[in-house]
Amino acid sequence: MARIAVGGFQHETNTFAPTKAGLEAFLQGGAWPGLLEGEAIFPATRGINLPVAGFCEAAAAAGHDLVGLAWAAAEPSDVVTERAFETIAGKISDRLAAAGPVDALYLDLHGAMVTEQLADGEGELLRRLRMQLGPDLPIAVSLDLHANVSEEMVAESNLLAIYRTYPHIDMAETGALAAAWLERYLAGGLRHAAYRQIPFLIPLTTGCTDLEPAGGLYATLARMELESGAALSFACGFAPADTPVCGPSVVAYADSAAQAGELAEALAAAVEAAEPDFAAPVYSPEDGVAKALRIAKEARRPVVLADTQDNPGAGGNGDSVGLLQALIAQAAKGAVLGLLNDPGCAEQAHVLGVGGKARFSLGAKSGIPGHRPLEVEAKVAALGDGRFVCTGPFSLGSRMDLGRMALLDIEGISVAVSSRKTQAADKEMFRHLGVEPVAVPILGLKSSVHFRADFAPIAEEILVIAAPGPNPVDHLQLDYKRLRPGLRLMPMGPRFAQGDSPRA
Ligand SMILES: [Zn+2]
Repeated sequence: MARIAVGGFQHETNTFAPTKAGLEAFLQGGAWPGLLEGEAIFPATRGINLPVAGFCEAAAAAGHDLVGLAWAAAEPSDVVTERAFETIAGKISDRLAAAGPVDALYLDLHGAMVTEQLADGEGELLRRLRMQLGPDLPIAVSLDLHANVSEEMVAESNLLAIYRTYPHIDMAETGALAAAWLERYLAGGLRHAAYRQIPFLIPLTTGCTDLEPAGGLYATLARMELESGAALSFACGFAPADTPVCGPSVVAYADSAAQAGELAEALAAAVEAAEPDFAAPVYSPEDGVAKALRIAKEARRPVVLADTQDNPGAGGNGDSVGLLQALIAQAAKGAVLGLLNDPGCAEQAHVLGVGGKARFSLGAKSGIPGHRPLEVEAKVAALGDGRFVCTGPFSLGSRMDLGRMALLDIEGISVAVSSRKTQAADKEMFRHLGVEPVAVPILGLKSSVHFRADFAPIAEEILVIAAPGPNPVDHLQLDYKRLRPGLRLMPMGPRFAQGDSPRA
């Protein structure tokens, strides 16, 4: 039996997004629990699809004694403020110092955190904790599939276990995997690490593991693991992050340095061989809506339009109106779009009451240049308090608290408005407002891929839409300045050169 300290600090930073993550964002937590300290971590995360929950369940079942440090997460956004980083990193470190002797440390991290001062938030956090614990104490970490894994993260920890699904239906499972690897490490195994970077950026939409090539690559990884007995990870990386550590990578842990190196090399070669297959079609809002209308005529199930460039799960504020405008312009009656984050409009709808009509100045409050609110006459079709429990495989068990919500009807097109942003990845977000998604002909979802876990089974077809927003599918539209030279900005695309600011 070991005594294991448990903490977590998750943020996925889109350095091109409009809003920073301050301490408030971590205290509130968004779709996940707000800041948790000490033993409170365990009951508050139990049963949720979260790495920390999976780790704790597996480690406790194996008879280990767990000590809660601090755990915090915020919705993806621009950089984490220095105050938020220092406060949460400080809590983890202080509680670790106060915990007395431990045999290992487990951390639930994302792997793509950038702060006001740091290009590699997790690398710095791990460096500090390694200093505090000394060179020999095992540190096991779980990371998101969108981690921009750095050399420092590998060097300052002993094990990095990374999700293998996108939509991330295996978050809790990855926590349990980290526990299993830690078990092997404590018994003397998996002592050698190897790390390789992949030379091209992978767009969010084509990293989906329900599709090829990502699905096949994770199957290859699992097969290699089974054959070798080693522990392997592949991170697709998080492209909208202008840092030198941005990009996909693979990590291997084995009983010898030679085996770890060979496996990392082989896995990286498999990813590189799949590069051409990581490119995929994207529609303009106009073309996407027109195609959806054509399909919907014959279909019995919804056509889903993924409003990926405003995905709050990738740093968008969920309040752009480009896709909504296209739906209205083409009179896509019966269509429903969600979630549009606009607390002012939600409040206005609650004051009006169900059935009330008024002029709304809808969305586009983030201050993105060129974005203007949509001025529309709308009727309040339904209201909600934003509190419900998710039932889809991605957010399963998450207790949502999205503030006041409202369903607004604009000439037969409905918009689900929330007061807090989160990506539209669960059917309950619509059912909360009386909309049964299965019965909707065209569903616009502000999400890139996670929605697929709950919506792909009911979708006739899924079209990826590039409406204006801070998370461009085409990375050539991003004004990168700090990437590592030579990295290809898109699969088979041009290379980044220092001093360049390539634009389409
Ligand atoms: Zn992710």
